[in-house]
Amino acid sequence: MDKIDIKNISKDELRNELVRLGEKPYRAGQIFRWLYKSGVNSFEEMTDLGKGLRDKLKERFHITKLILADSKHSLIDGTVKYLFKLEDVNTIESVFLPEDNRVTLCLSSQVGCKFGCSFCASAPFGFIRDLKTSEILDEALSIRRHNPSSAITNIVFMGIGEPLDNYDNVMKSIRIMNDADAMKIGARKITISTCGLIPGMKRLAGEKLQVELSVSLHSADDKVRSALVPINKRYPLKELMAACKEYTKKTKRIITFEYILLKDMNSSKEDARKLSALLKGLMCKVNLIMYNQVSPVRNYSASTGTDAKGYKAPEAAQAKEFIGMLKRSGVNVMLRKSKGEDIDAGCGQLRISAMRPARG
Ligand code: SF4
Repeated sequence: MDKIDIKNISKDELRNELVRLGEKPYRAGQIFRWLYKSGVNSFEEMTDLGKGLRDKLKERFHITKLILADSKHSLIDGTVKYLFKLEDVNTIESVFLPEDNRVTLCLSSQVGCKFGCSFCASAPFGFIRDLKTSEILDEALSIRRHNPSSAITNIVFMGIGEPLDNYDNVMKSIRIMNDADAMKIGARKITISTCGLIPGMKRLAGEKLQVELSVSLHSADDKVRSALVPINKRYPLKELMAACKEYTKKTKRIITFEYILLKDMNSSKEDARKLSALLKGLMCKVNLIMYNQVSPVRNYSASTGTDAKGYKAPEAAQAKEFIGMLKRSGVNVMLRKSKGEDIDAGCGQLRISAMRPARG
């Protein structure tokens, strides 16, 4: 019989397995603490379990771990971007973001992505597969191992992949991260970021877990949004906003909208007016991010001031005006500082360098 990947199963599933092995179910808590608090990689290290139980566990389960393939450290703000190799040699990226009294991990949920957002470095390489629960948990455990003095306070699913498209594995990993015998990260400190998958949002609204939801909006105009976030053709703004309203009504939680400011696309006065009208009456806040085109993977051209897609950030004055208009119309908005700019910490870039043949 194939061995079970022990980090792929919930605590209840582990209890059932232990009973099948003739062991007491309470052992599941002990094993969870070894796996997720101590972060051990072998059953031998679980020293408060008897040898008989450790042998049974070894026979029934295996413990996965990720292999560090590359990392980049920001000299500006301490951000570290990791490239991990999975057991099937695929690679994923995860980011460590320390800030004042919090430490956020940005995790990937899939190898590649199906959704093709036009500004995303992961998009051109398509979708390979979902990450397993164990692989998602291993991202957090591996980063913790490399940063032993930093307690993880927040998790954001904003790395490679669409978390609501790998719903079951992402939710299972969140429940384990949240468990007091595991990482004990509060559900409110965990954010799921979606490009707007309405069925997943509806499912999430019914969960008894107070996770934060963030939606990549980027435009209040269907035509522009469809060009930036192609899933908008399947779930246009009217349906997306109805789903957001339903979500806030059901969960009593606000939604965060992510909005990348792009010159001549979504940052004019008219765009600000459309955005205020779209969000009117909705329990939400808006995170604005200035587009960062100065990146080797985006083929930035100094002569045109744009990247390969022709995107560039608006001037600071225009961004200020955009924010001012939103604020005056009552929108809760803030301009987020881009982290790890010197290492280009957006999703997908390390993986792309690893996939590129070396230049001779
Ligand atoms: S931004 Fe997110 S959803 Fe869009 S292509 Fe990139 S990884 Fe996929």
